[in-house]
Amino acid sequence: MHRKGTNQHDVQELNRILFSALENSLVGTSGSTFIHRLYHGTIVNSIVCKECGNVSQRQEDFLDLTVCVCGVSSLEEALWNMFVEEELFEGNNLYRCAQCDRLVNAAKSAKLQKLPPFMTMSLLRFSFDFAKFERYKETGRYSFPLTINLRPFCEQTDGEDSDYTYDLFSVIIHKGGCYGGHYHVYIRDIDELGQWEPPEEDVKPKTQKKVKEVEKEVYEPKLQEDDPLSVLTAIIAQEPSKSVLLDQLGQKLMNEIGSSWSKKFRKHYGPIGKFLQSHNDVFMLVSNGTRVALKANPPSPVTELPGPAEQTINSSTTPDSGDSEQHPGPNQKPEPEPVQGSHWFDLNDSAVTSIRESDIEKQFQGKESAYMLFYRKTQLHRPQEALNNPPYKVPSHLIQMAQDENIKLHQMREKFEATNNTVELHLHLAPSYRLENGALQPLSKEPNGSIPLSFDRRKTVGDLRLAIYQMQELWEGDMALTVAKSLPAGLHLYNTLRDDSVSLYSAGIYTNTDLFVWNGREVCGASVLIGAEWEPVLLTVVRPYLGEDVEQHVEDEAEYEESKGGFENGGPGLKKEARGFAGGVTLSEVKEALGEPKESLLCQEHKGGKGREQGAGEGGGASGWRVFPPDDMQRTLKELSLKDGDALLVLEPQSFDSSVFTRNGDLVTVTTPSDSRWLQVEFRSHVKGGEGEKEEEGKRIKVLATGSTLLTEVKQRAIEELMLQELPGAQYCLRQVDCTGKLLPPVCEELSVRDAGVRLMTTLTLCPGKGPKASQLFLQFTVGTAPSAGMEMDIIVEKTCTVKECLQAMLDAVGIDGTCWHLRRLDWCEEVGEPLMEEDASLSELKISNGETLVVTEGHLPPKGFLKIPVWLYRDPKNVEADFNHTISGPAEEALMEDGQCPLVSGGNTAELKSVGLVEISDEAMLEDLKAQVLTLPALQDMCVPTTGFMRVWQMEGRRPARILRGPQVTLKKLKLSNGTDICVQQLLKEEDLGPKEVLLNVKMGVPGERFYYPPEELVWNASHDSSPRSLRSCLAAHFGLSPDSLLLAKHQPDKHMWEEISNWTQQVSKKKKKKKAESLLGAPFHLKDGDTIGVKNLLIDNNRKFTTVEDEQGQQRLREQAEQRRKGGQAAGSNDAGSQKKAGQTKSRKPEVALSINVGVFR
Ligand SMILES: [Zn+2]
Repeated sequence: MHRKGTNQHDVQELNRILFSALENSLVGTSGSTFIHRLYHGTIVNSIVCKECGNVSQRQEDFLDLTVCVCGVSSLEEALWNMFVEEELFEGNNLYRCAQCDRLVNAAKSAKLQKLPPFMTMSLLRFSFDFAKFERYKETGRYSFPLTINLRPFCEQTDGEDSDYTYDLFSVIIHKGGCYGGHYHVYIRDIDELGQWEPPEEDVKPKTQKKVKEVEKEVYEPKLQEDDPLSVLTAIIAQEPSKSVLLDQLGQKLMNEIGSSWSKKFRKHYGPIGKFLQSHNDVFMLVSNGTRVALKANPPSPVTELPGPAEQTINSSTTPDSGDSEQHPGPNQKPEPEPVQGSHWFDLNDSAVTSIRESDIEKQFQGKESAYMLFYRKTQLHRPQEALNNPPYKVPSHLIQMAQDENIKLHQMREKFEATNNTVELHLHLAPSYRLENGALQPLSKEPNGSIPLSFDRRKTVGDLRLAIYQMQELWEGDMALTVAKSLPAGLHLYNTLRDDSVSLYSAGIYTNTDLFVWNGREVCGASVLIGAEWEPVLLTVVRPYLGEDVEQHVEDEAEYEESKGGFENGGPGLKKEARGFAGGVTLSEVKEALGEPKESLLCQEHKGGKGREQGAGEGGGASGWRVFPPDDMQRTLKELSLKDGDALLVLEPQSFDSSVFTRNGDLVTVTTPSDSRWLQVEFRSHVKGGEGEKEEEGKRIKVLATGSTLLTEVKQRAIEELMLQELPGAQYCLRQVDCTGKLLPPVCEELSVRDAGVRLMTTLTLCPGKGPKASQLFLQFTVGTAPSAGMEMDIIVEKTCTVKECLQAMLDAVGIDGTCWHLRRLDWCEEVGEPLMEEDASLSELKISNGETLVVTEGHLPPKGFLKIPVWLYRDPKNVEADFNHTISGPAEEALMEDGQCPLVSGGNTAELKSVGLVEISDEAMLEDLKAQVLTLPALQDMCVPTTGFMRVWQMEGRRPARILRGPQVTLKKLKLSNGTDICVQQLLKEEDLGPKEVLLNVKMGVPGERFYYPPEELVWNASHDSSPRSLRSCLAAHFGLSPDSLLLAKHQPDKHMWEEISNWTQQVSKKKKKKKAESLLGAPFHLKDGDTIGVKNLLIDNNRKFTTVEDEQGQQRLREQAEQRRKGGQAAGSNDAGSQKKAGQTKSRKPEVALSINVGVFR
């Protein structure tokens, strides 16, 4: 019974609702007075006039008594205060007597008048602190007796003692604080129907260990510490009681193996509880599920009694448990004695545990303490027949009903378990496999060579074997079932199921397990290496591809792949072959298996070499390999951490004669063989070829080239072969094409293929135009705006030319004159970026690179170190109320106006921005200088600001104020203001100096029960020490004078018109290492920043947990319509869809609360 939040009913309320629902359902039956008869009592309140003695009385009914806890130490004291103490009317507080007809001294008192058979007491543990304006829970000590005599509190006191005596039979306990918690209940099993066992007291680990060490030798000489099944079995077996309390199992495991379950087994075996459950053929739960025992060796009544060590501790610590704990010595045969005293149980969710009567005292005080008490009259004796007799006086039709339900439940469980326990197995039969490359390969190439089999995993291995024998009638001889796994290299075998008596469950068989069915010795005469250490690795064996004789050989081997021309496939001129090898074999064994002579070298791809090989720098297409050192030859593939797909280069002695390999120490460079030495050149007559201009057919040729061939030679040969030389005076350049088909800057033809970063066997495009010399740069430029693709112009300039000269060359090229221009670079997102300030610096000094795009920008270069900053004025919605447009729906607004409350501001960020000009200021200037400059703008002449502290400066992002610039003495450079950044200034009514981690938030409190908010307030949240939701919560709580726990928070997302709830419980959810970081509201997912709007709900008085307003829904509707329109391709979608309006609420919908109704049917 979990409760969260405050608008849920508390258990006291639930009790009353339950009673009333029961009563309603019993109307008209013979049980209609049932609740009344059992629980109804009365109190009589009397006021006695001290003048005339007139008594005025008023009777009060109760089903439960609410008693004070605050300032009271016990139930008796509370009852004394209520029913014995008199309240006097005197002094200023006189009573008007009807008889005397004037104000008189009087005494007021109350007495219990009618006592119900069952007396329920609700303890007022929850109080309201009016000073702090918050709820709190009384956790002080408050005792209550097991038996109470109510005579002193009654009006009539002349009855028998037994008329007033009550016994406690149930206690509801609340655990937690006042805004959430958990209930459980202690119940006395009066008829002793449950299986109550004296709970074990906590045993001191020291004694326990001693006992264990002795027992260890006796019970379990060998312990396989890596096998949880074996460890747990041993632990339980060595307990004298043959069972272990579930919650002590962890500690016992720790004592046994020196490591916790989580540390040692959880990763592979899951939580311990699950593990026990999944091995229910080994373990069983006893004592109402609180203890675990072994099925094979279940606890007997004798062994279940505590052992000698525990016995002494028990008898010394639990004096109240009486005779029952005095067991005879271990050598005497103990007689099971019935346990005396009350049988109490703790019902906690699904767990029911036996407790001692003395445990009730633990609930006198604390966070977890008694909350409701249930007493019954001692007179209500239970007949002897009721003892241990569950069906006693239960009508037979109900017993029948329960039995029927149990049968149904049992059947359902069977069915569920059957489906839940069915595993799909894949059987692989040995006759259809051969052993090859260290793994099993199917003989046929069919992909589904396995036989599917559905099997109940509660059945044993023996059952499975039998089933397979039956399926495979022709099977002869032994049958071994071995767990297999399909690896890249083939099928590999792991553990063989040897014990026919264990279930598949315990044998670790899950659904989709592959099982290899064989004779357990060999496959096709070859013995099989099984287990993880022999897992085969699928290596890519790379060999040089040297000539026809190799080619001949290649044709025989189907697995050879041609890799000529692919750098990715291990290098040009290399052949690669996938071969599997058992992980346990050494490299020299691999060499032998490959049929290589001793002198052959094995090489591994050079780790650093991979990137270099793929980079542009190599030119010739060489790749780097490292020869395995001699020591490695005796190491296994596992030891060398070779993985599937790793490449292994085999260098045969004769390879060293070839020009392909260069060996330098243990490094081998594989260079491009001669048949790979070419470049493809294709001709394009137009550089800016659009879609329509596909290159002409046949204008593509191959030119022989090596890494050291100069690109001019390549060009010359291409021009000759393409017969372009007859076009007189035409200039051509070679350009590379990127993966999107875009032409890259022309290559420098003075360089070799390798130096220019051109790789062999790629394509170059021959275009009209000029290529740059080695001393030149090929630049692209646009005028005025950021370039759009294909609209750039090209220019070639000397690297040594200055920015000024470069600008002039560009202006000349486009035919613009004038001096009022400067050059800017592009920033990383291809927008016009920083200007090139140093006009006299050379392009190479400024590190302008080949192919870069510059923007010729109108206007003088801003003075050095000066920023040009467009300024906006933030017009606060409060100050521009006149032209503020309310969008609140009619009725809500009217309602508020009637109440005389201030008009609401919807949306929050509806401030107006107005452009007020531009300031030019040095980036060395401080923020306060910027503010002073801004104030000189003509448009702000009327703005009255006593000091710059009264002015807030926002940095804009995407036309929205996004960050408040902090620190009056901080320079603009440090604030990272740059040219092109817009700022926005806001006038404040009080001075402000925000710290670096103080966040300015707009907070608005929801109007209780409504879908709108009070006007937003600015709130500075200091997140410098703690930026967690809790910190924000307490900041807001302090601001509003409320308890943090009663607040519900959400961040508004103005773009989406949605609210993102800031959970109360983050801290409990994220127990990971990076807890602090993960919790920060400044990071993902909330990214709280200046100006964000935080919605606040006070759950104490607000039952509307949704943050969305009508405007949000309208906004969402607009967004949907816009999306719809975009989808429909601009088709007008004007209709107002009622259905989508309904869906508008984006916040999590809660199930509505419904009235509790109980149907009793026929009451007999
Ligand atoms: Zn009187």
